[in-house]
Amino acid sequence: TSATALARAESLIRSIPDHPEPGILFRDITPLLADAEGLRVTTEALVEPFAGSFDVIAGIEARGFILAAAAAIVAGTGLVPIRKAGKLPQPAAAVDYALEYGTATIEMHDDLPAGSRILLIDDVLATGGTLAAGRRIVEQLGYTVAGVSVLFEIAGLGGRDFVGDVHTVFSS
Ligand code: AMP
Repeated sequence: TSATALARAESLIRSIPDHPEPGILFRDITPLLADAEGLRVTTEALVEPFAGSFDVIAGIEARGFILAAAAAIVAGTGLVPIRKAGKLPQPAAAVDYALEYGTATIEMHDDLPAGSRILLIDDVLATGGTLAAGRRIVEQLGYTVAGVSVLFEIAGLGGRDFVGDVHTVFSS
């Protein structure tokens, strides 16, 4: 993956002030997703460091699904969705985690072969609560986390330390 292509892809991430609430600088990846080269090089960059070390990719709802599906095609693996509570028809595990205000719950199925090594993917790392919960749900089901990979890290929120061992393509 060329540095020039990656830098161009990064320039396609748009920052929107006060979305979805006042005070949040929202990192909007949709212009990057709409760009053929941007989507390809960032997808490759998400999986490259983990080549050969995972069996399947898990994406976290909702924008994580988009990147995880693209990454699974690039890596030649299948895709597992980690969803918000109440969406999956047969959840085998649920993990609660703290949000800035209140809590949220994620759920996952357990249809993978025992011992599966999972690469966890999401779009943005902020406080790390979501990806830490993703790590916990994978481990709760007895699978192995082969790695955690994120397109954009909002640095300075402690997310990296909270999740532990996370690969980020871009950082603010
Ligand atoms: P956190 O659990 O705090 O790391 O938040 C991560 C989740 O919230 C990710 O799934 C992101 O999609 C979303 N998110 C949090 N902050 C932002 C932001 N500033 N811009 C875009 N998405 C965000």
